[in-house]
Amino acid sequence: MKERVLSVVVSVYNEEQALPLFYRTTSPILKSLTWDYELIFVNDGSADGSLTILRNLAEQDDRVKVIGFSRNFGHEAAMIAGIDYAKGDAVVCMDADLQHPPECLPAIIQKLESGYGVINMVRTQNKSAGLIKNITSAVFYRVINTLSDVKFEPNASDFFAVSRQAADVLRRNYREKVRFLRGYVQNIGFHKTTIAYEAHDRVAGESKYSIRKLFAFSVNTILCFSSLPLKLGIYAGVFAALLGVVVMIYTLCTRQGAPSGYATIVVLICFMFAILFVIVGIIGEYLAILFSELKDRPVYIVEETKNLEK
Ligand code: UDP
Ligand code: MG
Repeated sequence: MKERVLSVVVSVYNEEQALPLFYRTTSPILKSLTWDYELIFVNDGSADGSLTILRNLAEQDDRVKVIGFSRNFGHEAAMIAGIDYAKGDAVVCMDADLQHPPECLPAIIQKLESGYGVINMVRTQNKSAGLIKNITSAVFYRVINTLSDVKFEPNASDFFAVSRQAADVLRRNYREKVRFLRGYVQNIGFHKTTIAYEAHDRVAGESKYSIRKLFAFSVNTILCFSSLPLKLGIYAGVFAALLGVVVMIYTLCTRQGAPSGYATIVVLICFMFAILFVIVGIIGEYLAILFSELKDRPVYIVEETKNLEK
């Protein structure tokens, strides 16, 4: 009897081609571990046969557990749902396309056993991503690391492991609606380490993240992790005020032959706008806080589960 249990969370969206291979590759590795395991598949509203495959797997193997969403809620929601339902002493999140090699699991267990609470898997190479994705990803991390107080590891992935204690923090305290799990994992503290891995090509099917989706996701993430953009109004106000002073001094000193009243108008407009921008900036700050709290919609809706109580 193995003492501890590893919960492996796998998000699944239209992966009917990859799933059987994923299960066949991962199961023997999981069985060979010194920990017992549960394999939690989160079906994120797949439109193909993924759910049928998962139901069959759950029927044959009671270590396979399935959470079925009522519609597509996105990868982030799928991961958090898996973490919510996980019963293990540690949780690993990975993709269903075998881009996150299950061969790394023994190394993860080793790190967990030596007391690490957060293990970030860092890509050494991402051949499949292509030049554009690699460049945009680099730009995104540069921007967010400049604007945000918290620091992000540029090559981190949605492949990570957390101890039960760290998973509890994610379950309880990180219930934000617009989320970036990878960012939370890197910033909840605990005894942290990284393991390098080589990202392989997807075994089957296509990437579910288009450039457009990634862009929207990046903008949301930057806004969630930094309030600096909100303060632009305040900076604009201060700038306009300074400009007003400069124009005032300039017109007073040079006594240039402008039509009478011109200088007064310019100075006044600058000052008025300065005040306006500052006020808009402050209201924006409040509004952003209220808006994110107020909506309180569910992050995901579960329609069915297999081999899971709750
Ligand atoms: N995924 C998901 N919901 C989505 C999009 C993707 O659960 O709306 C899953 C997908 O099935 C895969 C993982 O998230 O297991 C990563 O997606 P993908 O491989 O398409 O992203 P990439 O590796 O290209 O960044
Ligand atoms: Mg992938």
